[in-house]
Amino acid sequence: MNNADKKNNSPLTTKGYQLRANVTKVQHVSIIGGGIASACLAYGLTKLGIKVTLYCKDSTLAQGASSNAIGAVYPLLYKQADSISLFYQQAFWRAKALYSEIAEQGYSFAHQWCGLLEVSYKETLINKQKAFAHFNSWSKDLIHSVDAKQASELANIAIPYGGLFMPNAGWIAPKELVHSIFKAAEATKYLTIVTDTQVSKIQQIADAETSVTTKESNSNRAWRLYTNQGEYSASTLVICAGADAIEIEQLKTLPITATRGQITSMNSNKKISKLATVICHKGYLTPAHNGIHCIGATFQINDTNLNTNKADDHYNLAMLAKCLPELSANINWQEQDISSSKARLRCMSQDHLPLVGAMPNISEHKKAYAHLAKDKNWKYSQVAPSINNLYMLIGLGARGLCSAPLAADILVAELTNTPYPVDNDMLFSLSPNRFIIRDIIKQKIS
Ligand SMILES: Cc1cc2nc3c(=O)[nH]c(=O)nc-3n(C[C@H](O)[C@H](O)[C@H](O)COP(=O)(O)OP(=O)(O)OC[C@H]3O[C@@H](n4cnc5c(N)ncnc54)[C@H](O)[C@@H]3O)c2cc1C
Repeated sequence: MNNADKKNNSPLTTKGYQLRANVTKVQHVSIIGGGIASACLAYGLTKLGIKVTLYCKDSTLAQGASSNAIGAVYPLLYKQADSISLFYQQAFWRAKALYSEIAEQGYSFAHQWCGLLEVSYKETLINKQKAFAHFNSWSKDLIHSVDAKQASELANIAIPYGGLFMPNAGWIAPKELVHSIFKAAEATKYLTIVTDTQVSKIQQIADAETSVTTKESNSNRAWRLYTNQGEYSASTLVICAGADAIEIEQLKTLPITATRGQITSMNSNKKISKLATVICHKGYLTPAHNGIHCIGATFQINDTNLNTNKADDHYNLAMLAKCLPELSANINWQEQDISSSKARLRCMSQDHLPLVGAMPNISEHKKAYAHLAKDKNWKYSQVAPSINNLYMLIGLGARGLCSAPLAADILVAELTNTPYPVDNDMLFSLSPNRFIIRDIIKQKIS
C-alpha cells in the first residue's frame, strides 16, 4: 500500500490496525514540550502555515533531556537491516538535513560532523565488528570497519582497538540546537511559546461538560489543559513532554519508562585536546568544545532524581578507564578536572523506537481486534481506533537528536493529511498502538 492509498483510507492491507485514521488538515496545534521533539514538530508545522502554541513548564526552553551541553548524533544500527536500524538510518540522514537547513538560515549552534568511532574494546564487540563486515548491510558513508591504526588516525590519538566508524556522525550542542530550531519556527510568526506553564491534567472538553458523546461530536472534541497558570483549550494536542509524559493520565497505559542519565564535563588537557572524533565505548567521550569534553552517561531505570552526585561522575570516569584503560591512564583525569555534571531523564520505549502518532483507544482496540488472540493473522480492515485529537511524539530514548526530525515529519504528515515520509511497516513500528496489538496477540490483555 502506498501513501496515497493510506490517505484515502482504503484498507488494502489485511492488518487494519496498522492503518491510521485520516485527519482533516489541522488549523492549530497545541504542544506540551520544550525539547528537541517539540522543536522539530513546531518547526515542521509552522513552516506549513499551521499555528502552534507550545506550553513549557520551565522558564526557558530546552531544560529537560535536551539541555545537555553536548550530545552525539548517530544512528542505532545492527548488523542486519532490521526495522530499528532502517528507521534510525533514515532518521540520521533526515536529522543532518534538518540541522543543516536551520544552520543555513543563520541560526547558530555548536556542532561538528567529525565522525564517531565505536571501539571494539572487548571480544563481543570484535565479533560484532566482524558481523557488520560479513553482512555488509550498510553503505560505507554510514558505517564501516576500521583497524586500530585507522582508528588512531581518525581519532588523532592512540586507540589500541579497531572499531566501527560512522564518518558522517558527530556531536551537537542540544540546548543551542533546540533554541535555534524554535527561533526558526518563531520567524514564521505562527508559533506562540508559553513558558512557566506546567500542564498538570488534560481532559477532553466534552468529558467535562457532558457524559453524552456522539461519534460526530467526538471528532471535534477539544482538550482542556489544566495548568499552574489557569486553563487553556486545545483543538489538537500533541504530547512532547519527554519522560514527564509518564505522568499524564491518558498515557499511563503505554509501556514507557524514565531512565536517569548523568553526564560529566571534563576539562581538556594536552593528552586529549587533539581528539578529532566522538569515541563510543560503553559510554562516550566527545572532542573538546570550549575546552570541555563530555563523558557519560549513566543509565538508571526508574530513577527520577535530577540532582547530580559524585558517585555517578566517578562511574563515568571508571567506565572510560575500564573500556579504554591506556587512553584513560594517559589523560589522567582527576576529580578536580570535573568542570560540571548534569542529570536528566530519558523517556525509553521497550523496543528502542519512539512512539509517534495518535493515542490509541485501548478499549476499542480490545473490542475490534479481539480475534488476534486466537489467530494473529486474522484479517481486519478496521482502521486503528484512537482518542480523538490527542497525539504524542515521545520515547526518544538515548537517540533523540537522531530520531526527532524524522519522527516530527511523520506527525506533520499525519496532522496535515499529506504523504508519510516512511512506508506502512515503519509507520506501524512507530505507532503507539503497536504495544496494544502485541499484547492482544500474546493474550496479555483481553
Ligand atoms: C544523560 C543523557 C545523555 C544523552 N545523550 C544523548 C546523545 O548523546 N545523543 C542523543 O541523540 N540523545 C541523547 N540523549 C537523549 C536525548 O537527550 C533525548 O532523547 C531528547 O532530548 C528527548 O527530547 P524530548 O523533547 O522528547 O524531551 P525533553 O528534552 O526532556 O523535553 C521535554 C520538555 O517537555 C516539558 N514538559 C514536560 N512535562 C510538561 C508539562 N506537564 N507541562 C509543560 N511542559 C512540560 C519540559 O519542560 C521539557 O521542556 C541523552 C539523554 C540523557 C539524559
